[in-house]
Amino acid sequence: MTRTVYVNGTYLPEHEATVSIFDRGFLFADGVYEVTSVLDGKLIDFAGHAKRLQRSLDELEMANPTTEDELLAIHRELVRANTITEGLIYLQITRGAADRDFAYPEGVTPTIVLFTQAKTGLADNPMAKVGMKVISIEDQRWGRRDIKTVQLLYPSMGKMAAKAAGAHDAWMVEDGVVTEGTSNNAYIVKGNTIITRQLGHEILSGITRAAVLRMAREAQMKVDERPFTIDEAKAADEAFVTSASTFVMPVVEIDGVAIGTGAPGAVATRLREIYLDEMRKAAI
Ligand code: PMP
Repeated sequence: MTRTVYVNGTYLPEHEATVSIFDRGFLFADGVYEVTSVLDGKLIDFAGHAKRLQRSLDELEMANPTTEDELLAIHRELVRANTITEGLIYLQITRGAADRDFAYPEGVTPTIVLFTQAKTGLADNPMAKVGMKVISIEDQRWGRRDIKTVQLLYPSMGKMAAKAAGAHDAWMVEDGVVTEGTSNNAYIVKGNTIITRQLGHEILSGITRAAVLRMAREAQMKVDERPFTIDEAKAADEAFVTSASTFVMPVVEIDGVAIGTGAPGAVATRLREIYLDEMRKAAI
């Protein structure tokens, strides 16, 4: 099926959508993005993604070509036009097209692109029943991971390293402690405490992370936002990751070592249920 996509104010068939070869997203990875999931034809935590988008743009002194209301209308129109009941909406804004120059160009119109990806089995993901395996790798990304930029080559390399090792993903380690997964935030559970890296420039402030930690606290679970090592993770009772497309996903193996019983843990499983339940109710 030919998708309808959105480029710079126009809805059009995907094969007619174009962006300039001078676009700074293409030349400099000078762009930011968001991925919002769709369940039951509705957007999950749109407000959270819109807020983080604005923050990423502000950090890079990049103009926002839309208002939040316009952005919501575009998301909804793409869901409607492509009859998405379950899937993802990808949004990218770049600084725009200009002659190649390291300095930010003046007076350039930003580029904005949105497209959908239908994906069944997001909520009913069979992986949630068995859990995923991760390997650890050195975190070699730049120092402003709190800005959601499109420079994703190192995370791609990490995914490939994981695949080559027979695992699903990689957790990145810097100065001896875990930062995050290639495309998700990382957590361990020890006793009654959920442990996850504190926010800072070293990790992305996950929209799913914020919601899951809020729900965990509301459910009287203990949350400790602090660094942890891979050795501590291997000795944990449970491990899991969160992201907009995987929600809460149990991790059952790290570098070949089984975590806890080697099956998805009770905390991760419960948080996944609570998250899906609450977010479905709040979806717009
Ligand atoms: N960390 C990184 C590096 C990511 O790429 C992502 C997903 N974009 C996340 C964390 C999770 O963020 P969110 O819950 O907003 O999807």
